[in-house]
Amino acid sequence: MTAQIIDGKAFAGKLRDKIGRVAAEFESEAGRKAGLAVVLVGSDAASEVYVRAKGRATVAANMASFQHRLPADIAQADLLALLERLNGDPAVDGILVQLPLPGELDEQAIIAAISPDKDVDGFHVTNAGRLAVGQEGFVPCTPLGCMMMLTDRMGDLSGKSAVVVGRSNIVGKPMAQLLLDANATVTIAHSRTKDLADVVRGADIVVAAVGRPEMIRGDWIKPGATIIDVGINRLPPENGAEKGRLVGDVAFAEAAEHAAAITPVPGGVGPMTIAVLLRNTLVAAYRNEGLTLPENAL
Ligand code: NDP
Repeated sequence: MTAQIIDGKAFAGKLRDKIGRVAAEFESEAGRKAGLAVVLVGSDAASEVYVRAKGRATVAANMASFQHRLPADIAQADLLALLERLNGDPAVDGILVQLPLPGELDEQAIIAAISPDKDVDGFHVTNAGRLAVGQEGFVPCTPLGCMMMLTDRMGDLSGKSAVVVGRSNIVGKPMAQLLLDANATVTIAHSRTKDLADVVRGADIVVAAVGRPEMIRGDWIKPGATIIDVGINRLPPENGAEKGRLVGDVAFAEAAEHAAAITPVPGGVGPMTIAVLLRNTLVAAYRNEGLTLPENAL
């Protein structure tokens, strides 16, 4: 079998076009643009790249982008004061603090200071709780993007056997919750799981969110399974190249011989994460204005 490639870049492109159209409708109804504030503390190179990309994507989707760049040695109280201001700013619908934070800053306290109704990353404990009990809230962007690609490809997931490898708060746990809500039978695997290969072999759906290059091998994959590879790992440079190749947590070529469908790295889950961030921001804007989002719009 040769797997079909799930093209996350194309999927995200379509979603962003749709978001752009709905955002323009929002603007004409609300008399303002939906707004996303991104807070970057310090000058981590990778975070700079992400923040710039988020800003560009926000503007391209007819929304307002507010970027706050703060020095790495900012006092926690000053960062909390900025978040307080953004919580109260009616032009700001979504607030995102780029992680990881440098120095002594208390990440949990800072996430807790974002209003849950503007927490478009879905990291606030209130939103984690809402997801756990099935209430409307914000779901972390990466797992929600994975879920959109899975349901687009497979339709109804009822009764499917799903294995999520990884149990982080931002990917693994919410992913498992979403699959459970879609009536899949879910196993969460992690570093203490015994005989992971055997666990994965039983799965119709495998979501890999580990951070270990090509750890999941082709012969672990059930014939006909669907594979979502969240991992982004850079290999050491080869043949004098400046940078090494990016690979996922799944050995792509091997797995593609057994799976029915698989996301590539890069070009799979990655592009969906920003698209879903824009989606969550627009959903927040409709809620904040007390307007109704057109049915099935996003
Ligand atoms: P974390 O490091 O927070 O979590 C990794 C998880 O993998 C942990 O639950 C850990 O288990 C588990 N794990 C580690 N080693 C093994 C092993 N040998 N066997 C089984 N499980 C193992 O990572 P994240 O969830 O934040 O990210 C995972 C990957 O996804 C990374 O490569 C990251 O770069 C990528 N990522 C990609 C995004 C995108 O937009 N595409 C967004 C977010 C992340 P334990 O809990 O027992 O330690």
